[in-house]
Amino acid sequence: AAKAAGGGTFCFFEPHMLHDSREQMELLRDLRRAIEEQALELYFQPKIHAPSGQITGAEALIRWNHPSKGLISPGAFIPVAERFGLIGAIGDWVIDQACRQIHTWREGGLRMRVAINLSVHQLRQDDLADRIDAALKRHAVNPTLLTCEITESVAMENNASSKAFFDKLEQVGVHISIDDFGTGYSSLSYLRQLPAEELKIDAAFVKDLEFSNDARTVVDAVVKLGQALGLKVVAEGVETDIQRDILRQLGCNELQGFLFAKPMAANRLFLWAMSDDGPTHTDFRQSLFGD
Ligand code: C2E
Ligand code: MG
Ligand code: MG
Ligand code: MG
Repeated sequence: AAKAAGGGTFCFFEPHMLHDSREQMELLRDLRRAIEEQALELYFQPKIHAPSGQITGAEALIRWNHPSKGLISPGAFIPVAERFGLIGAIGDWVIDQACRQIHTWREGGLRMRVAINLSVHQLRQDDLADRIDAALKRHAVNPTLLTCEITESVAMENNASSKAFFDKLEQVGVHISIDDFGTGYSSLSYLRQLPAEELKIDAAFVKDLEFSNDARTVVDAVVKLGQALGLKVVAEGVETDIQRDILRQLGCNELQGFLFAKPMAANRLFLWAMSDDGPTHTDFRQSLFGD
């Protein structure tokens, strides 16, 4: 269950707190209402260019502010949504909201790339690529500003419908990122065929980096694999200076994690990215996150 929550610390409420089916049904009812009443929100976590420390984009991470239970992490409600057929509606909302936000930031003078997460259940919608295409057009967004993160285990499902989906996504022109890389079983020949731009090294390897030579060896190998295949390599879950330094030294292209910034509301990200002092200015960071 800890892994299902993506290792996030945003989990004030966890699936194991759902003791019985009655509670689960209540959550489901509340979630239906939340979708209707727009009580879901996208938070954004910056991705940082490793050599320069500049922001290159942001990952959209969904949050649900529940009226009585408080902030619920996606690890707790996405599985419920998937099980009870709500993931299509939530996924469509995420796609639309991400495109809307890219457009809004642009109007404000900020050209920001945004990555969204796609779940395996969303990929079962035959027309998912068309829906993404429609949302981009609806908000007049350049497709190269949108990245779709798909976990390695899902991306490596080598079958006809998965192949067709990737081909369509490539045609739409969005970027593709293989999320949680290192946790699944990649076929290297298939990886080479995928129209992906990016590998995201799973946070588990980053976490062990300081203490484990094995983790360092894996990260080193993934960076080299990425370089050989022409893929950008991103590390997620970077929390310490030491991890950052090792990742830089190994040649990782981009970094993401609490060391730089936690996921934040869209207006905060705007201020953070537009600040003269840049995202690395400590005082500014403290004024935002020092609470
Ligand atoms: P993910 O895509 O691998 O996202 C990374 C998770 O790690 C996020 O948790 C993020 O808040 C957390 N994180 C980032 N930096 C750090 C760090 O330095 N330390 C630690 N401990 N955690 C960090 P979050 O937001 O709870 O999301 C968990 C998972 O839920 C995501 O994993 C993703 O698979 C899924 N998810 C999030 N938003 C969406 C969405 O809009 N749609 C779908 N289908 N899934 C989503
Ligand atoms: Mg993860
Ligand atoms: Mg992700
Ligand atoms: Mg990830």
